[in-house]
Amino acid sequence: MMKTIIEPFRIKSVEPIRFTTTEERERILQDAGYNPFMILADDVLIDLLTDSGTAAMSAKQWAGIMDGDESYAGARSFYKFESAVRDITGYKYIIPTHQGRAAEKILFTILGGAGKFVPNNTHFDTTRANIEYSGAEAIDLVIDEGKDPDSLHPFKGNMDIEKLEKFIKERGPENIPIGMMTVTNNAGGGQPVSMENLRAVKNVLKKYNIPFFLDACRFAENSYFIKLREEGYADKSVKEIAQEMFSLADGCTMSAKKDALVNMGGFLAMNDENLAQSARNILIVTEGFPTYGGLSGRDLEAIAQGFVEVVDEHYLRYRLRSTEYLGEKLMDAGVPILRPPGGHAIYLNARGFTPHIPPEKFPGQSIVCELYRFGGIRAVEIGSVMFGKTDKKTGNFIPATMELVRLAIPRRVYTQSHIDYVVEVIIEMYKGRESLKGYNIVYEAPMLRHFTARFEPIT
Ligand SMILES: *Cc1c(COP(=O)(O)O)cnc(C)c1O
Repeated sequence: MMKTIIEPFRIKSVEPIRFTTTEERERILQDAGYNPFMILADDVLIDLLTDSGTAAMSAKQWAGIMDGDESYAGARSFYKFESAVRDITGYKYIIPTHQGRAAEKILFTILGGAGKFVPNNTHFDTTRANIEYSGAEAIDLVIDEGKDPDSLHPFKGNMDIEKLEKFIKERGPENIPIGMMTVTNNAGGGQPVSMENLRAVKNVLKKYNIPFFLDACRFAENSYFIKLREEGYADKSVKEIAQEMFSLADGCTMSAKKDALVNMGGFLAMNDENLAQSARNILIVTEGFPTYGGLSGRDLEAIAQGFVEVVDEHYLRYRLRSTEYLGEKLMDAGVPILRPPGGHAIYLNARGFTPHIPPEKFPGQSIVCELYRFGGIRAVEIGSVMFGKTDKKTGNFIPATMELVRLAIPRRVYTQSHIDYVVEVIIEMYKGRESLKGYNIVYEAPMLRHFTARFEPIT
């Protein structure tokens, strides 16, 4: 008999969530300019805005918080953190930072610069921003299936190896200081990368003497996908799979706010001694002394324990299954989503959900607002609000490639009945989708407008 995959924990400490009425939420939405980023978290019933820094920590992590050593130099907590991270990554030099983007900033301050190119499957937005800020160019080379919302390829995060080699030959290996792979591919829907593909990327980069780094934010989720989907890995432990993944690369950047199961933190790790020396020199200027980076001793304790818990296979089975569960229920009801479900989020395909709303009237924003108005659920638009542009010369609207709404699942926070409620709200909304009308932007900032834009509903 197939048994329900249950939450592999019981709840020791709870945080109440606040219930509001539809009328209250209509007023809150109006006051927020119809932008869920501007809604107070206390006014949200179920918050699926992001899986970053929103995990529930375990009793052992909280115990570690009390036990943190806050010494400036040589703190015990640092050595615990270093040994936990080294146990899985195998890297010689491990440099703590306050979050993932701080690790990126240090890496590209050293390796970036004008005339340089950095390939990746798909750069996450902070990675791209740090590369571009250094003057270098960030290039996405994910396989074509990774850009098709309906392709059922098991590893949609893979890199196109032919494109990679062609790219290196065209631009010259001397202009490519580093190659990266993001596991799982966050910007591409949380889709995994196969070990075979990581090995192929490594071999191409090695042939041209280019160092290879992982953007390792969701390394454990990626490892479990490999165990489930890649031939030859079913009988390996997730820890062994993760160790093998890291062994193919020369280093990594990591946001501990994802797969280290903590609320703040990150690190940069590598085997190259000279690179580590340069990184530590910058770290001291921007983050702090090498045995704490931008973190407190207690944060390092929590990360060390998070690294032990995140490769637990009962946890990962529950984690991937609970995301897939949400996706399956929506697909069964005919709701269009990006397939197959990723590791950390489900993406509604707004183009299919509200085909009567054109991209310039922001179908994703309409769905995000209705999710909140109708159900008190907060999600994020990843479509033309975030990536759409107006052509400066012609004044024409240029839509995003996809119109998506991301429902990110915080780690260990919500139970199956919370998710069942989310499913009910979305199915009910889908039935009434023709009543959704779209929005106009009435205010936008010159950059990253989605965070602060204000909207007006079309009536
Ligand atoms: C979150 C994230 C980052 C940046 O990490 P922060 O901790 O938010 O600075 C980088 N890459 C990927 C893939 C991420 O998901």
